Amino acid sequence: MKLLVATRNPKKKKELKSLLKDLKITVVALRGFKNVPHVKEDRKTFAGNAAKKAVTIAKCTGLLTLADDSGLEVEALGGAPGIFSARFSGKAANDLKNNKKLLALLKGMPERKRKARFVCAIAIAREGKILKIIRGTIGGHITVSRRGSYGFGYDPVFIPTGYKKTFAQLGPEVKNKISHRAKALLRAKKFLAKIT
Ligand code: IMP
Repeated sequence: MKLLVATRNPKKKKELKSLLKDLKITVVALRGFKNVPHVKEDRKTFAGNAAKKAVTIAKCTGLLTLADDSGLEVEALGGAPGIFSARFSGKAANDLKNNKKLLALLKGMPERKRKARFVCAIAIAREGKILKIIRGTIGGHITVSRRGSYGFGYDPVFIPTGYKKTFAQLGPEVKNKISHRAKALLRAKKFLAKIT
């Protein structure tokens, strides 16, 4: 049994593969598949985008497919950047620019007003049909400057509740036990074990 992990983000792919490594399923990545369209993430929710990606790619590859859509919600910004996390700083967005924009918007705010959470929606599809959608979250707060070099995205500016270090300082050992993606994938794995 093969499971296609539908992401083009190499760091996210690495995390997903590591979180799925104890499953008795061969995990394959999108790279190497020809004619797989780039799926536009134009739905209003993480779950909507994850479902769209999983269904489209399952249809066109014929494989059991797992897609993830995720992002950061900051309370003081009314939930932004949310589904726009990857593109927060505009067309030429990258992780550094996104982090800087976020820190600038929260400048001067005390820690109690810097509450945030990561959200991950995982969708699993086969033969063009959604089999399961799962959500995982982790709460925390946003730092005043970037710290650490592990991970990706907003990891250098996010401190999970109960810790004093950012995800980028804590590294994969800790992040992959407690993150939004780890929580969602734990449930996804239980589901996959049942259907494969
Ligand atoms: P997606 O590939 O459309 O799901 O974009 C997700 C974006 O949300 C990433 O580019 C990051 O900016 C952010 N993000 C999602 N998950 C994480 C995480 O685990 N750590 C840091 N940033 C994340």
